[in-house]
Amino acid sequence: MAVTAAAQTSGKVVIRNVGLMLSGDIDRPLLDADTVVVEDGIIAAVGRAADCDATRPTTVIDAKGTALAPGLIDSHVHPVFGDWTPRQNQLGWIESCLHGGVTTMISAGEVHLPGRPKDVVGVKALAITAQRAFEGMRAAGVGGGVKILAGAPVIEQGMVEQDFADLAAAGVSLLGEIGLGSVKAGAEAATMVGWARRHGIQSTIHTGGPSIPGSGLIDEQVVLEADADVIGHVNGGHTALPYRAVCMLCERSTRALEIVHNGNERIAILTARHAIELKCPHRVILGTDAPAGSGVQPLGILRLIALLASLADVPAEIAFGFATGNTARQRGLRQGLIEPGRPADFVFLDRAQHTAGRDLLESVQLGDIPGVGMVMIDGLVRCGRSRNTPPAVEVPVVLPVG
Ligand SMILES: [Zn+2]
Repeated sequence: MAVTAAAQTSGKVVIRNVGLMLSGDIDRPLLDADTVVVEDGIIAAVGRAADCDATRPTTVIDAKGTALAPGLIDSHVHPVFGDWTPRQNQLGWIESCLHGGVTTMISAGEVHLPGRPKDVVGVKALAITAQRAFEGMRAAGVGGGVKILAGAPVIEQGMVEQDFADLAAAGVSLLGEIGLGSVKAGAEAATMVGWARRHGIQSTIHTGGPSIPGSGLIDEQVVLEADADVIGHVNGGHTALPYRAVCMLCERSTRALEIVHNGNERIAILTARHAIELKCPHRVILGTDAPAGSGVQPLGILRLIALLASLADVPAEIAFGFATGNTARQRGLRQGLIEPGRPADFVFLDRAQHTAGRDLLESVQLGDIPGVGMVMIDGLVRCGRSRNTPPAVEVPVVLPVG
C-alpha cells in the first residue's frame, strides 16, 4: 500500500460489525460494543451501533464480525536508523512488525549503531538525533507509520544531573537499558535513575546474563538497587536469572515486569504465573527485544500472547491486555486502550484459518497465532490482510462512502 502523506488525518471513521471488542484493560478486557467512531485520529465513541453517531463518515469499515484490539505495543526494541537493522542487516523489519499488529515500539536503546559513541556528548547527541529521526519517520509514514519512541541513551559513567536535564529539555523521555554501557553497579545506576526520574525520563534496566558479546550480567541485587521503572526482559535476553531470583524481583519490587520474546520461555511462563499469584498482573508488559541475536520477529508479540495464554494459564483477553493497556499505563502512553479520547491505533484480528479454536480467544488459548486482517494507526488504514500472520478467516473491508 502507498505511503500515506504526512499531513493526512483520518477524518471521521466509523468501524461497525465488530464481533469482539478487546479493550486492552485487564480489569475489563471485553467491552459490550460493536462500533467505534474515530474523529481525526482520536476515538470519539465506543458502543452499540444504535448509541453511536455514525452520520457523515469519511470512511466506513465493516469489521465483518472480527475482533478489534488496541494496536500492540512492543515495549522493548533496538532500532538504529530508518527501517533498517545492522544487527541482522535487514531492511523493512519495522513495517514487517506492523503486519504482526504492532503499532507502537519503545526503544530500549539504539545500541546496535555501528561505532556507537560512548563519550557523554556523543551519547547525548545520538539520543537527540534518534528521537528526532524516528519522530520524523513516523510523520512521513516510513516503517508503515509505526510509532517508534526512540532516542534512549545508554547511560555511561561521567554523566551528571545536568546531562539528564539537557536530554529532557531536548525531548528525550527514555533511557536505554541500564547495564549495556559502563554503568553497571547498583548504587551508581540508582543515582542516575533518580536524576532521570526527576527530569521526567523513564528508565529500564537489562536483567540477566549478557545478551551479546559486550553486554554483561545484571543480577537481582543490582536490579533492586537501581530501581529503574521497568525491569527490562525479566526473563533474560536470552539468559535468565535463576527462577528464585526472578521471584525476588516480583516480590520485592513494584516496577514493571517486562517479558520478552527473545528471552527464556520457561521463565516467561513462570513470571506471568507468579505475577498473577501475587495479584500484580498489571505489572506484566511484553516486548520482543528485537532486533537481536535471535533476529526480528514480526509476530513476536502475538507469539508471546499465545505462549502465555496457552502455557501460563493467562486468559487470552488478559494476555492481549499485557501487550496493550498494561504497557500504556506502565509507560504513560495515550495509546493502548480502546476508550474515548485515546489515539485510534487498532488491530483487527480473527482466528486463523484451520485453527482448532472455534473463535479468536479459544484459538489463542490453544496456542495458535491469530490472523491480522487490518491495522490502523491514528485512524488511518496502514495495512489490510497481514502478509505475515496465518490468514484470518474473516478480514474487515473498507466500504464506499456516499
Ligand atoms: Zn538487554
